[in-house]
Amino acid sequence: MGNIVAIVGRPNVGKSTFFNRLIQRREAIIDSVSGVTRDRHYGKSDWNGRKFSLIDTGGYVLGSDDIFEAEIDKQVELAIDEADAIIFMVDVESGVTPMDEDVATLLRKVDKPVLLAVNKVDNNKRLENAVEFYSLGLGEYFPIASTNGSGTGDLLDALIEAL
Ligand code: GDP
Ligand code: MG
Repeated sequence: MGNIVAIVGRPNVGKSTFFNRLIQRREAIIDSVSGVTRDRHYGKSDWNGRKFSLIDTGGYVLGSDDIFEAEIDKQVELAIDEADAIIFMVDVESGVTPMDEDVATLLRKVDKPVLLAVNKVDNNKRLENAVEFYSLGLGEYFPIASTNGSGTGDLLDALIEAL
């Protein structure tokens, strides 16, 4: 079976884009409208010969903001139980949001590897802006761009190391 790695984070940060890039098969539904990807998607991937299963969490149903936030918490708690390591994805375009802080609070208590991926770092300005994510209290982060794969190698190296 190998290790299980879950990708968590609020809608639209780029979780499914990253997932699809890694499994090299389009299984998850991608849409720029949040709330579209409803189910958890599982895929197999490997990096430098090391195999792992990847979970794309995204079963968020849009209703009220309350349901929205509770749903994300539920997905994160499920991921914490199920996964051997967690990739927490945030979005440099929007910066730190209250929902990111909420998820970070859950993840800071977790006794499993948590890798913070700051996505959409497409240019140097965004690379500078990414420093604000230190405020989440999760330590070092990985600046990545899921659309072109930039930075994802370093993230995966660290993931394999942590598993
Ligand atoms: P999810 O809701 O977290 O699964 O996010 P998606 O993977 O569905 O992506 C949401 C939007 O962000 C889509 O329009 C993607 O094309 C866009 N996106 C994802 N990764 C990047 C990136 O590295 N750079 C930029 N500029 N946009 C991205
Ligand atoms: Mg998605």
